[in-house]
Amino acid sequence: MAQKSILNESREITRAVTLIDLGARLQVLESETTLSYERLLRLYKEVAGRSPSKGQLPFSTDWFLTWQENIHSSLFLNIYEYLSKSSAGDDIDMMIKAYRLYSEQVQATEVEPLLSFTRGWRLVKFVDAHMLTMTTCSKCGGHFVTEPYENARHYVCGLCNPPARAGKGKAAGGLRLH
Ligand SMILES: [Zn+2]
Repeated sequence: MAQKSILNESREITRAVTLIDLGARLQVLESETTLSYERLLRLYKEVAGRSPSKGQLPFSTDWFLTWQENIHSSLFLNIYEYLSKSSAGDDIDMMIKAYRLYSEQVQATEVEPLLSFTRGWRLVKFVDAHMLTMTTCSKCGGHFVTEPYENARHYVCGLCNPPARAGKGKAAGGLRLH
């Protein structure tokens, strides 16, 4: 546990404000800072101008495996893993950086970011818990979010093999993962 100091506390508040700005749910703030629930609630209302949404966090891995969602999730996770390997820092700060880069990249291709910050955070937790992993596409060589037991020799990603209903182009929005 980090020593309680004014400096630490101000760092935690800054981090919490950044997370609120990115749209993170209150549960994320509780998990990633040592600030009390009451303080986080006050901070949330002040920064977001409204009360935080209630209810459970999504806890299923299915969302990340759906076609278009999978492409977005994979893009975010590629950026996150790259940052984690190439620079030092707390995981949460890497997630913040990765999420900003992800949003910039999808907006540059005129696609709406499908992945919320909370989803991205959840994705990293699922990977840490070995409930999801990344598998290399046997056709394009890109790395994609998959179930841990995916057979890499036969795996073909959603960009190389889009579902028939999707049509070519638009929906994938020119996103590339390699
Ligand atoms: Zn592919």
